[in-house]
Amino acid sequence: MISAVFLDRDGVINAKAPEGDYVVRWEDFHILPGVLEGLRLLTDSGVPVIVVTNQRCVAKGLLTTAELEGMHQRMREFVTQGGAKIDAVYYCPHEMRECCGCRKPAPGMFVDAARDYGIDLPTSWMIGDSDIDVEAGKNAGCKTARLLTKSESGAAGPKTEPDIVAFSLLDAVNQILRVKVEAYPREYTIKANLEQPVSMVSGQPKKPGGL
Ligand SMILES: [Mg+2]
Ligand SMILES: [Zn+2]
Repeated sequence: MISAVFLDRDGVINAKAPEGDYVVRWEDFHILPGVLEGLRLLTDSGVPVIVVTNQRCVAKGLLTTAELEGMHQRMREFVTQGGAKIDAVYYCPHEMRECCGCRKPAPGMFVDAARDYGIDLPTSWMIGDSDIDVEAGKNAGCKTARLLTKSESGAAGPKTEPDIVAFSLLDAVNQILRVKVEAYPREYTIKANLEQPVSMVSGQPKKPGGL
């Protein structure tokens, strides 16, 4: 079993569209500062990165699933060119009223990824910029990191209780990797002496051919 980092998309990887609007074209997909650096840290640490995103713009007819997947393909190519990787993208195309099992805060996308890739949810993290992301991560049994927006960094914090708060994806990743190393001090010290690449997160050597 491996530990993964789950990421929300809008507001974590790319800039959110204005309220009530949706990012439906690659031309409007603006990657946020520090994202490539954060993803590279995860990639270099052998941590699978999985995007879980609610995209009801599909149900609204603003773009097709093929167009959405095309945009995600370009996002992944951009990240790969930046020396990092996104291992998988799960999206919920449904409307709220459809009551599906995948729309966050439901844990369906996490459960699917855990099944598809052999991921251990309790040692995995969810990074998101909304209370719904934190709820979804908790519903999946993951640890949670909440990115604060500028307006929230003052007195009014998140309504949910994430394990950590951060100001960017890079900040969250830095905190998570530090938490992870501290969580496995003995194994990590032992493995660090083996002079071979190991995954800091699972406490297990990286599976060849795995994620
Ligand atoms: Mg978001
Ligand atoms: Zn859904």
